[in-house]
Order: sequence, then C-alpha cells, then structure tokens
Amino acid sequence: MTALAVRHGAVNLGQGFPDTDGPAAMLAAAQEAIASGVNQYPPGPGRPELLAAISESRARYGTAYDPAGEILVTVGATEAIAASLLALVQAGDEVVLFEPYYDSYAASVALAGATRVVVPLVEEESGRFGLSAEALRAAVTPRTKVVLVNTPHNPTGSVFTEAELAAVAEVCVEHDLLAITDEVYEDLVFDGRAHVPLATLPGMAERTLTISSAGKSFNCTGWKIGWVCGPRELVAAVRAAKQFLTFVGGAPFQPAVAHALRTEGPWVAGLRDSLAAKRTRLSAGLAAAGFGVRQAEGTYFVCADIRPLGYDDGVEFCYALPERAGVAAVPLQVFTDSPERWKHLVRFAFCKKDEVLDEAVARLAKLG
Ligand code: PMP
Ligand code: GLN
Repeated sequence: MTALAVRHGAVNLGQGFPDTDGPAAMLAAAQEAIASGVNQYPPGPGRPELLAAISESRARYGTAYDPAGEILVTVGATEAIAASLLALVQAGDEVVLFEPYYDSYAASVALAGATRVVVPLVEEESGRFGLSAEALRAAVTPRTKVVLVNTPHNPTGSVFTEAELAAVAEVCVEHDLLAITDEVYEDLVFDGRAHVPLATLPGMAERTLTISSAGKSFNCTGWKIGWVCGPRELVAAVRAAKQFLTFVGGAPFQPAVAHALRTEGPWVAGLRDSLAAKRTRLSAGLAAAGFGVRQAEGTYFVCADIRPLGYDDGVEFCYALPERAGVAAVPLQVFTDSPERWKHLVRFAFCKKDEVLDEAVARLAKLG
C-alpha cells in the first residue's frame, strides 16, 4: 500500500508510522552515544542502563522484573515476538491468535513450525471490538501451548478491559497455557482508559512473556529497540533463540531509549493527548465522508466500514483508493484468516500531522 501510495501521490494513511520526530533530548542522546563510541556489540541481554530503565518502567504496573535475567532487549517487538515463539513452541503445538491479528504473528508461528488457531474478536454494537474468553475457551485443545494477546490492539484500536483480560487469564491458568503479550501501544490509550498488562492478573506473571518497544511511545519506529520481560527460564529460552537471529542490535539507540524511558514521561503524555485529538479529528472526517466509523480507544488506528459508501470488499476498495481518491488505507482482510467476516472494514492511521489528516479527509469527501 505504501508503494501504491507513492506511485499515485496519495496521502498514506496505510502503514502506521508517525510523521514527526521523538523527543529532542532522546535524539541528542543517540547522537551523543555515537560520538562517544557506543558503536560496537552491546552485551547479549542489552545494555545495563536500558535493562534498568525497562525494569523501572514496568514498575508502574506493579510488576517487578530483575534487569539481570528477566529482561531481554530485542530488535523491535517484531524480533521479540519471533524469538519468543521460536523459544516456546514446536511442531504439533497450537498458538491461539485473536483476529484480526498483526501480520507478523502468523508468520512467526509458521517459522516456529507450530499451528495457529484463530479466534475472532467480537464486533460490538457500540462500534468497539471485544475479546471473548468464551470463544478462547472453545478454541483450546490438548495441543494448545500459547495464547498471544495484543492490547492496545492493532488494527482495531481496542484497549482490552481488565475484565476481558481477567477472563483470558482464567482460561490460561485453567489449561496451564503460556501467554505472550504485545503491548507496543501501551502508552497510547485515550479518554482516561488504563492499559492493563496481562502479566499483572492473578496466576499470570509466572506464565507470561510481556513484549513492548520504544517505537510507538517515542516516535522512533525506525530504531527498532524492543524488549521482552518475564520469568527467568522463559526469558533465557527467548535469548537462546535471539542469539542466532540477530545476537544483539542498535547499540547507540539503547542508552537513548533508556534516557527516554526515564525522563520523557511528560512528552509521552503530550503524544497521547495529541493522538487522541487526531483520532477524533480523523474519525469525524471519515464519518462526514460517509464511512461507518468504529471506536478507536488507543493505538494509531481507526477502522471504518465501507458499506455505507456502496462498497463491500476492503481489498478491492484499498487497491483502488490511491488512484481514485489519492489516499491509502489497509483492508482488515490482510490481518485475518476469515476475510468474509472482515471485508467491510478498512484501517486508517491517524499518527500524522493535522494538515495531512485534513487533506486525506478532503480527498475522501469526494468519494461518495
Ligand atoms: N506489534 C504491533 C501490534 C505493531 O503494530 C507493531 C508495529 N508495526 C509491532 C508489533 C512491531 O514493533 P517494532 O517496530 O518494535 O518491531
Ligand atoms: N505497525 C505498522 C502498521 O501496522 C507498520 C509495521 C509494518 O509495516 N510492518 O502499519
């Protein structure tokens, strides 16, 4: 979609990446690290100041991870997800994913030789997408090993509630399952909602690998500094897989991210408020253009129903949109195993300057 957007000079609300930089002091810290010689392989688990900063950052949720052995720095959350699955599952094991799911999950389950079992999120009357623990329970078999949960959720923008997650935790405990969580949008939750890490729920700390990264919280998606936190034995297994994927990564970015985690809380709060306003701005524009706009409770993304505009297939719609309207979006079908169920929905990213969102809306308004 990004290539199509470039070809047609379209406003790219497809791929989710911000069009402004992160905090100036963080950028300066990376430059300073390079200038002062932080340019060789960092230690296998990650640089000590970053491990300490991650541990402090997780403490806000009440969880305690020992920087020596319970945290591993990875090349973005993407590597953390892949290495965690390679570490925990093998052929014959089943991994439960909720759909629509972030595209790397299915690929990483396949790389690990395991089988994915897909449970759909529930499209609620309110326009929100909910998590059904009953549907999860029905999907569990004797071969189920891992449940992978993403909250705040890409592509729907849902922030799962404590009650939804507690019900998932209950199923994990009851069937002795491991959990992997993808919390890369943990700081981007709107309207006073709270992000709840699954690992904070009863019985979960000892069976959960919690994954996050710096890209979304600090507008540095290209730095690819991520991390995984969890019980020592599980993190050691992930490190064994990571060792032969990349070994280590991003030496000079690690002290810069440590600095950001420790000192840029107010900047992140500003980012959250600004994204909430952008969510409202784009949602209103899409509604005025005739889309059926769904609720975005967090993340970079809002989903919209194309049926009110007279279309019924998101893939066809999104392939035609750059040329027809000069805007790029992503169909939800690409995040799912059951395209029929999701083909009326497309995803728009709102992590863009207001004038970019306004231009996209002005172009989309001519569609109807
Ligand atoms: N998980 C989700 C849900 C995402 O949206 C992204 C960002 N594209 C990632 C993981 C990957 O994060 P990173 O860039 O840190 O690898
Ligand atoms: N997370 C971003 C998205 O969902 C981009 C990541 C990617 O392009 N692989 O759009």
